[in-house]
Amino acid sequence: MLERRYNVLTGEWVIVSALTQQRPTNPTNECPLCVGGAEFSEPYDLCSFDNRFPSLRVDAPEVYYEDEIYAKERALGKCEVVVYTVEHESAMSLMPVHQIEKLIKMWADRYLELSKLPFVKYVFIFENRGAQVGATLPHPHGQLYAFPFIPKRIEAKLTALTRYFDEHHSCALCDVIERELKHGERIVHENEAFIAVVPFYARWPYEVHVYPKRHVGSIVELNNKERYLLSKVLKVVTMKYDLLFQQAFPYMMMLFQAPVNDVRYQHAFHFHVEFNPVKRDKDKIKWMASVETGTWAFINPKIPEEAARELRSVEVLE
Ligand SMILES: [Zn+2]
Ligand SMILES: [Zn+2]
Repeated sequence: MLERRYNVLTGEWVIVSALTQQRPTNPTNECPLCVGGAEFSEPYDLCSFDNRFPSLRVDAPEVYYEDEIYAKERALGKCEVVVYTVEHESAMSLMPVHQIEKLIKMWADRYLELSKLPFVKYVFIFENRGAQVGATLPHPHGQLYAFPFIPKRIEAKLTALTRYFDEHHSCALCDVIERELKHGERIVHENEAFIAVVPFYARWPYEVHVYPKRHVGSIVELNNKERYLLSKVLKVVTMKYDLLFQQAFPYMMMLFQAPVNDVRYQHAFHFHVEFNPVKRDKDKIKWMASVETGTWAFINPKIPEEAARELRSVEVLE
């Protein structure tokens, strides 16, 4: 079964995708993303391809309304995999900067390409790194979901940003960046075009956000120099993470870009990257438990300014 169902209690869409239950779990011997594995017979550099177990499809089956409250829609959309490198043991923290630059170009190309599908409303690019966040393959890769609806947390961001713009006549994130640059206490790393901060409103103990200093709605609008500087900041942040506890640091990395096929949010939406790491200490996990899951209210056991100080003091060789 593949369909999306409307939750009349919350206004959320839930994708029912029974196929994903057949996804392979950590294979012990053969990696499908290595050359010679299930996906690649030939050598490659980096690559994007359709997810074999998609939760959203361009040819999603038709659905029929049976009840006006229990609304259903086709699970139209696309799920793609982006393999960062041919090297199985690599990671964003270990990849050369020019490889991350190529990855950013691929993200931009896919974002543009998927936005051409008329039913796509939101393109979400992300990486789950580590078994603790459900990554089933260790080979460095990320994913891309082209949604036929605006997911709930994105909707919350759009609502807050639009309201802020209407009240202040400026972009909320532009104003946040101005404050962070002035105070400096939450800055983890900075270059000419980007800042990496533990945000004032961090939900996870070592959460880091990457903000472009220039107001852009998506990575498509970044110029070549900015793409280079974004790859550098992504490498620095992930290197700092790995050095923090001297271990491959598990995280969810998510790109938040303006909705596609909708010009309403261009002025208020400012592209940003969120790293949501699950570790609260070397051997402790911050779980998304009842309060966080049920209410979306997070209790962060770490003072953001302290986390920023720790991450800032981790020295990396750029
Ligand atoms: Zn591999
Ligand atoms: Zn802005």
